[in-house]
Amino acid sequence: MNLNSGIEKKGNILIVDDILENLQLLRNALLKLGYTVRSVTSGRMALKTVNVKRPDVILLDIKMPEMDGYQVCRILKSDSEFSHIPVIFISALDDVFDKVTAFELGAIDYITKPFQIEEVVARLENQLTIQRQQQLLEKENIKRRETEEVLYQSRALLASVLNSSLDGIAAMQAVRNTETGEIEDFECLVVNPVIARAFKCSREEMIGKLALKNFFSNIDLELFDRFVNIVETGESLEQDFYYESGKYCWFHFVAVKLGDGFSVTIRNITARKKIELALQDANQKLEELANLDGLTQVANRRCFNNRLQSEWQRLARENQPLSLILLDVDKFKSYNDYYGHLAGDDCLIRIGQTLQKVVRRPTDLAARYGGEEFVTLLPNTDLEGGIKVAQNIQQEIYNLAIPHAESDVKEIVTVSLGISSLIPRLEVQPDTLVAYADKALYDAKQQGRDGWSTNC
Ligand code: GH3
Ligand code: MG
Ligand code: MG
Repeated sequence: MNLNSGIEKKGNILIVDDILENLQLLRNALLKLGYTVRSVTSGRMALKTVNVKRPDVILLDIKMPEMDGYQVCRILKSDSEFSHIPVIFISALDDVFDKVTAFELGAIDYITKPFQIEEVVARLENQLTIQRQQQLLEKENIKRRETEEVLYQSRALLASVLNSSLDGIAAMQAVRNTETGEIEDFECLVVNPVIARAFKCSREEMIGKLALKNFFSNIDLELFDRFVNIVETGESLEQDFYYESGKYCWFHFVAVKLGDGFSVTIRNITARKKIELALQDANQKLEELANLDGLTQVANRRCFNNRLQSEWQRLARENQPLSLILLDVDKFKSYNDYYGHLAGDDCLIRIGQTLQKVVRRPTDLAARYGGEEFVTLLPNTDLEGGIKVAQNIQQEIYNLAIPHAESDVKEIVTVSLGISSLIPRLEVQPDTLVAYADKALYDAKQQGRDGWSTNC
């Protein structure tokens, strides 16, 4: 059926009759009524005309020389292109008209001559209406088939994306309390194989099920509240989360509102997370190492400098004292010479540990300043406090009682200490405190070693 041609305004009629008067009469009457009319006087011409342009209805005389109406009808009905054209037979009253044959051949109606034009029009209109409706139906069918095709294609596309995705994809529908309207759970609408595997289920076991009750029970409940928030506010959510199911796993997900629910894509980032955590760990260790003295395992000079800087500023703001003790091992060169370098190292390690033990406040710092010199930084401590700590250090080192046969000070290892104490001021350099302690240390050495001196 050629749908493009449609039915011309009133209908395109082909009249076939060998008797010219009949033809003229009918043609004029129908033309007057606004139909598009073509008329031919033989079956053969009728078939040719139909081929040129398909009429909407054929009014076909039965009795014609050469080829009668039955024959024309039979030929038309045997051709799939024309078999749908409604044929109305015209027969004279005195014709031997075989209605059964006519209908068997596929005619849909007949008119007897002489006819009333109103009757012809009524019968024509019946056929045209049926045709219009058929065409409409056919158009709708085509549209439906096209829609079905689009639907099929998009379903196929969705299924292929869901099945081939390396990420988990799911769509959730809010399940609300029938009275309060509050979201109580989420129903799984769509779940792809990756998600199903993560929950150790088949997709069928998940689809249509309540997520919170069945699958989220061991996930942070706070997460559920965040999912609710997506639905209520329309704000999307992106975050990492940790999920324990046999082995530990890290996931990254992006969730966006979808109808009265949300869709979510989830990526397993465990491998990346492991690397990140190892890197964090390594960085922390590196940071610690960068601040530690390799030999004595107390803080190093770098760490001391940073701490001096920050404490200097803090205490300047607070107008609080900062004390510093510089410690130098007496006659250490001869210790090394006599006992050997390794024993010297060991001695330094023990002195470092002793310092660490003596300074106990969280803000105190014991550090190796270089060689056999150590430094102790004592925030919020005045000179008096500094002297006490210095005396404690001296005592604890006596307690170690490390033999030093070559020392002309004592038979054991002793130290000299220089103590400085200031209330820091921002316009003064922090190094001033070190320089003061250095001067005090010099004095202590000058005074015969194994003692302390102050400089403020
Ligand atoms: P003083 O009483 O005047 O301080 O005399 P001293 O011998 O301790 O001073 P000096 O500065 O002449 O010698 C310091 C020695 O400390 C030199 C070096 O052999 C030793 N020393 C410095 N760093 C290390 C170290 O890391 N390990 C060892 N074993 N010895 C060190
Ligand atoms: Mg020295
Ligand atoms: Mg020394």
